[in-house]
Amino acid sequence: MNIGLFGGTFDPVHCGHIALARASLDRYELKRIYFVPANIPPHKRQPFSSYFHRYAMVALATAAVKSFLPSLLDAPGTVVTGPLGKAAWQKEHESPAGANYSIDTVRRLKQRLRKSDRVFFLIGIDAFREIATWHEAEALFQECEFIVASRPGYSLADVANALPGDLRPSAAVTKPFHKQAAKGDLVLPGATVHLLEGVHQDISATAIREAASKGKPLKKFLDPAVAEYIRKMELYKT
Ligand code: ATP
Repeated sequence: MNIGLFGGTFDPVHCGHIALARASLDRYELKRIYFVPANIPPHKRQPFSSYFHRYAMVALATAAVKSFLPSLLDAPGTVVTGPLGKAAWQKEHESPAGANYSIDTVRRLKQRLRKSDRVFFLIGIDAFREIATWHEAEALFQECEFIVASRPGYSLADVANALPGDLRPSAAVTKPFHKQAAKGDLVLPGATVHLLEGVHQDISATAIREAASKGKPLKKFLDPAVAEYIRKMELYKT
């Protein structure tokens, strides 16, 4: 079975995220996609809204699609239950500032899946370009395949050169990639990257938070239930 994992800050989850997930579901025949808000994202400043608000918004935005599941995999430690609970809690307290590293999230998910299941990690190309700086980045490529939402202006060389250390192909190999748009599948020893074109929407959580702080309408960028939640709970007011 093909399983998707979509991690993020989701502060808030928006139509760009949902478009990427919907396209991945169809194109790669994913049975389920887990949306995993990070309690403490390692690569960003402190989120504006609490984990609980961000999880609630993800639950609202995913409610209408049967294969979309809000996930507590990166919830504050004590929420993790079962035999994995203790290990997960310890991990969280070992990492600097308790950050949620994707490698741990993927491994925790895989412990709940069958050995034969394939895990696909969903990500936007902007975030992917920083992937070499992620904790245990090479191990992450061993654990899962990547679905990267590409956009015009990026070449296949940009994607290949973003790969961490030993996985990055030599300049001789990537030379012809400079003239090729970032699309199709990049299958290299130790890394499989599927490039999804035409799904990137010009929306960001940053722009939505700014609009919310000015009291502007949000429904264009968000699931209406999420827009209503933000209004009701007075998120991003300051
Ligand atoms: P912020 O503006 O606060 O940085 P964001 O909109 O980028 O947030 P995140 O929760 O940080 O949202 O993103 C989660 C994942 O979704 C990342 O992999 C990111 O690259 C991807 N993503 C974000 N916005 C889009 C978009 N408009 N289209 C496709 N992918 C996106």
